[in-house]
Amino acid sequence: MGLLSEGNPLSWEETKKLADHVREHGINQFINLYHRLKDRQGDILKWGDEVEYIIVKFDDDKQVARVALNAKDLLAKLNEKELADPNGVKSLWRPEYGAYMIEGTPGKPFGGLMAHFNLVEANMRYRREEVTELLASDECVMSITNFPRLGAPNFTYPLHQPRPEDPTSSARSLYFPDEAIFPGHPRFKTLTRNIRMRRGEKVSIKLKVFKDVNTKLPVEGAPAGEPDVVLLDAMGFGMGCCCLQLTFQACNITEARRLYDQLAPLCPIMLALTAASPIYRGYLTESDCRWNVISSSVDCRTEEERGLAPLADQKFRIAKSRYDSIDSYLSPEGAKYNDVKLTYDETVYKRLIEGGIDHLLAQHIAHLFIRDTVSLFSEKVHQNDNEDTDHFENIQSTNWQTMRFKPPPPNSSIGWRVEFRPCEAQISDFENAAIVCFVVLLTRVILSYQLNFLTPISKVDENMQTAQKRDACRKEKFWFRKSSKSTEQRAAKAQLNGAANGTATGTATGTDTLINGSAKLNGHGNGLDHGMANGLNGKANGTHQQNGGDSDHTDTDDDENELFQLLSINEIFNGKPDVFPGLVPLIRSYLQSMEVDTDTHCTIEQYLRFIQKRAAGELMTTATWMREQVLNHPDYKRDSVVTERINYDLLKCIQSIQEGKHIEPALLGQGNHSKTKDFIPPALQKQLAKNGCCEEK
Ligand code: ADP
Ligand code: MG
Ligand code: MG
Ligand code: MG
Ligand code: MG
Repeated sequence: MGLLSEGNPLSWEETKKLADHVREHGINQFINLYHRLKDRQGDILKWGDEVEYIIVKFDDDKQVARVALNAKDLLAKLNEKELADPNGVKSLWRPEYGAYMIEGTPGKPFGGLMAHFNLVEANMRYRREEVTELLASDECVMSITNFPRLGAPNFTYPLHQPRPEDPTSSARSLYFPDEAIFPGHPRFKTLTRNIRMRRGEKVSIKLKVFKDVNTKLPVEGAPAGEPDVVLLDAMGFGMGCCCLQLTFQACNITEARRLYDQLAPLCPIMLALTAASPIYRGYLTESDCRWNVISSSVDCRTEEERGLAPLADQKFRIAKSRYDSIDSYLSPEGAKYNDVKLTYDETVYKRLIEGGIDHLLAQHIAHLFIRDTVSLFSEKVHQNDNEDTDHFENIQSTNWQTMRFKPPPPNSSIGWRVEFRPCEAQISDFENAAIVCFVVLLTRVILSYQLNFLTPISKVDENMQTAQKRDACRKEKFWFRKSSKSTEQRAAKAQLNGAANGTATGTATGTDTLINGSAKLNGHGNGLDHGMANGLNGKANGTHQQNGGDSDHTDTDDDENELFQLLSINEIFNGKPDVFPGLVPLIRSYLQSMEVDTDTHCTIEQYLRFIQKRAAGELMTTATWMREQVLNHPDYKRDSVVTERINYDLLKCIQSIQEGKHIEPALLGQGNHSKTKDFIPPALQKQLAKNGCCEEK
């Protein structure tokens, strides 16, 4: 979402009438953009993170913490620099759903140089400092996934009361006042109202309370017959949570489809590893993650669509909310793991096929387009389908899934991109940077070793639910694809070659410091393996080539039934003999054949060690740590209630952790000192220029 332009939202009745109009033109726009951009080749690796933050206001006298509803004013100030010099800023700031939330990204995406991994944390630190400078001394910007007492009495500053009976209220919530919705742009309140109107009732988010010895049942506000449920009734409970996302550019559409597929099974795995939200509306719950909460918070399906009433007005039953994990793979290798029947309108699908879209992409788009628009602005109704893409984006951007397949925007130099969306926001910049760098490295390893993580969609769905259970990171097991012998051989070979002489035999990892510099070699036709080199950067030869004999995608040496096993998070990250080498060892093996400057190497090593320890259970997830903080608080009555005082102390502790004033061994070990920098050293920049890669100044 760019700097949001002001606009006039249509009423729900008007929006509803235009649902088919948006759908029809959105599909036309997709077909047109596809043909304009399908042959686009040679985009280099670029990537960037998005971190969402909550502004907290502390009252030290009363020992109370509240969310500060000042994001609008704060953003106006944060955006001044960008408005004056759009290309020169180090960070970009955007509104989010909450009036107490902001989203920050790097000013420019990072590129294909190994040294870029060393910039992420420093940039995140810069963003935090930039905001902090604008805050009052009793306010704090925090990358926490959920404010623990969101929706509990008096949780906002200034104080506002919900008005459930007020017909002009967007949310009509018993707990979440409209004033806590970002007031600077009509999109957020419009979505809130339209989702509620379309559904025919308020959204309903149900979480099991964590039952302690003194937990009072029924929980306040529990639905009839469900005494152990913490009920939340507004979009803000989900969309008012923070997350950590990353986007990367693929060399072409084929690589983007492949990365989309390969990363989809890793979404629940990364969700479990980053679990950070066990407390809702002041109660400890049985859930560690925000995912189901957001999913229900924007569930606009009618009773008919949810299967609670016979189909009459609506066309189909719909299995999931418009916010959920993906429903189908997009690459030819993924096709056979699309084991859940997709819901879509046959005429929409046919229109896409007749428009020259292949089956896998057509069914993906048709499935996204079962949703009606829930936010339409009067000035956007009539568009030129040959140039505009707003109607397509209208539906695409309100399908909030674990992965997003992003086509190049109109009139830009940006290529096909894939967005990775499951991760929860972590407390410290170190943790957030570690997660981001890990996932980006993983994409390089996937392409370089042609790894295959494809797992049937039904099992990925199952993993999504498992991932959110209390302490899933240490206690649960996840469906995971056993690696074939060829994968391990490739990794082993790469390691040997890399260690022996640093040349790129067997993998595309070049001898220089560029992640995607190898395509250059490939372009000179020096006999590198095309499939792999191309995987790193399609600059040289756009089309995607498989490398003959030892591709995993044929599965000839595997029995399908044995292919999927239940593994723990520890086994997935650190490896299990004869089953899977482990994500971190695979990354290490890849890195051995790369030339990396010492500081970057040190930083990446710290990130990998941190991830290994968290996966092994040596370090706690944020969620587990937060639970412990509550359970061990002297004021805790063993009644599942996170009081104002406990909330205050927890957030104060988080503040001192993020500022580096307090070391919390259970979360981060004995302190982490990455060698993160806010610039690339001149010597490396020269190398970069020599290799003609990025446009770094
Ligand atoms: P959205 O909110 O639609 O997901 P944002 O613009 O907030 O998107 O964030 C997108 C992320 O993608 C940012 O981190 C940004 O730096 C990064 N990015 C920008 N341009 C590119 C590109 N060409 N390729 C990959 N990532 C990019
Ligand atoms: Mg964004
Ligand atoms: Mg966001
Ligand atoms: Mg959001
Ligand atoms: Mg995003």
